[in-house]
Amino acid sequence: MSVEKIDTLVVGGGQAGLAMSEHLSQAGVPHVVVERHRIAERWRSERWDSLVANGPAWHDRFPALAFSDVDRNVGPDDFPAKETVADYFVAYARKISAPIRCGVDVLKVERRIGRPGFRVETSTGVIEANSVVAATGSFQRPVVPELVPRQARVVQMHSTGYHNPGQLTEGAILVVGSGSSGTQIAEELLEAGRRVYLSIGPHDRPPRAYRGRDYCWWLGVLGKWDAVAREPGREHVTIAVSGVRGGHTIDFRRLAARGMILVGRTEAYADGAISFAPDLVDNLDQGDQNLRSLLDEADTYVVRNGLDLPEEAEARAIGPDSDCITNPISGLDLAKAGITTIIWATGFVADYSWIELDIFNEDGRPRHQRGVSAEAGLYFLGLPWQSRRGSSFIWGVWHDAKYLADQIANQRKYIDYDLARRGSRPQLR
Ligand SMILES: Cc1cc2nc3c(=O)[nH]c(=O)nc-3n(C[C@H](O)[C@H](O)[C@H](O)COP(=O)(O)OP(=O)(O)OC[C@H]3O[C@@H](n4cnc5c(N)ncnc54)[C@H](O)[C@@H]3O)c2cc1C
Repeated sequence: MSVEKIDTLVVGGGQAGLAMSEHLSQAGVPHVVVERHRIAERWRSERWDSLVANGPAWHDRFPALAFSDVDRNVGPDDFPAKETVADYFVAYARKISAPIRCGVDVLKVERRIGRPGFRVETSTGVIEANSVVAATGSFQRPVVPELVPRQARVVQMHSTGYHNPGQLTEGAILVVGSGSSGTQIAEELLEAGRRVYLSIGPHDRPPRAYRGRDYCWWLGVLGKWDAVAREPGREHVTIAVSGVRGGHTIDFRRLAARGMILVGRTEAYADGAISFAPDLVDNLDQGDQNLRSLLDEADTYVVRNGLDLPEEAEARAIGPDSDCITNPISGLDLAKAGITTIIWATGFVADYSWIELDIFNEDGRPRHQRGVSAEAGLYFLGLPWQSRRGSSFIWGVWHDAKYLADQIANQRKYIDYDLARRGSRPQLR
């Protein structure tokens, strides 16, 4: 079988792979990007129909292309629809002439024996590469806690399987997870007239906008996107935001007042009944506290910098508690409550099962520093908190890719020096 030789192989044609390609090209590194499906496939087939970007178009983008260049109806403060986001990345690939091959699945990456670089088995043949960038990110495998057995009399799906309210059978729905996905799906179902239970865990709920600026702007000027480490105890705290209908602040109390039934973290299941942790009130209070502390920091920033931004006292208003908050539900018999569907909006994990190298911790997470792995020549991109809080977001991955391209270009310099001293011509170029 013929073996193709490439200097750097980038695996994954989502935002991470494209950002990597742009920076590798700028650094003069020959490379190929392989993607098992289509460019930015996740945005097309693994997210619900009404999803819009969580950040405004001026913010959640790469520097070289505006959303309005792809769709002139998208203004800078709009939240692009998911198909527009996918179209944006397709246009981006074209703009940077990314050497991308779709329909190529990487099956195995292993070290070459006795020489540097990697042997990569793909669905279309073998590739040998000096460097490999795993740009498959952290949203690979849906996580569904093993709580409710499959044979239980309820339809269960991960948020990746949810498309729209019409797809669900009649009856009430339990949505588990109070991040942006769970909250947006629960709100959509409520608006479609469904009875909705929302299981709420620890979360942050920044204001959608405050004093005329989107929260993405506030997190930027307050240095929060660039935070390099998670606060102890808040490592897994999810953000509840929504860009739906032009964007609005997630206020769980307001959702409860509109008829959504809030419950604590989903904890156990037995004999057709599901039980919830007694943490609903705590989780709501923590979320409120997070909102208020951001407003406080924003106010301080306004004063310190002498900004003329309109005051917005109503952003601090916390509505009255509904019955589900004052008398939290500790458990529900699914059949009696009429719950026919559970939607697990419980997140994702990375999947590096195709990398056969000893560079992972016991929990499967790669050992790395800013994406540079413990195995020379193997890099990761799109990891949560890879270098900072913004790392797994559209604009953040672009900056991490720039760093990795620099690292790869540096390593090539050492290899070139060695080859020159030995009188050899550079290989795989
Ligand atoms: C519901 C939801 C909404 C989000 N909204 C926003 C938002 O508004 N703004 C924002 O900044 N971020 C958002 N994110 C976070 C993040 O930007 C997206 O998840 C984004 O898709 C991550 O891009 P990625 O390139 O890292 O990974 P992916 O989009 O997952 O791309 C990786 C690609 O690698 C391919 N691949 C995987 N394994 C292989 C293999 N072995 N061989 C070949 N190809 C392979 C996959 O097919 C996939 O196309 C959102 C995430 C979710 C889940």
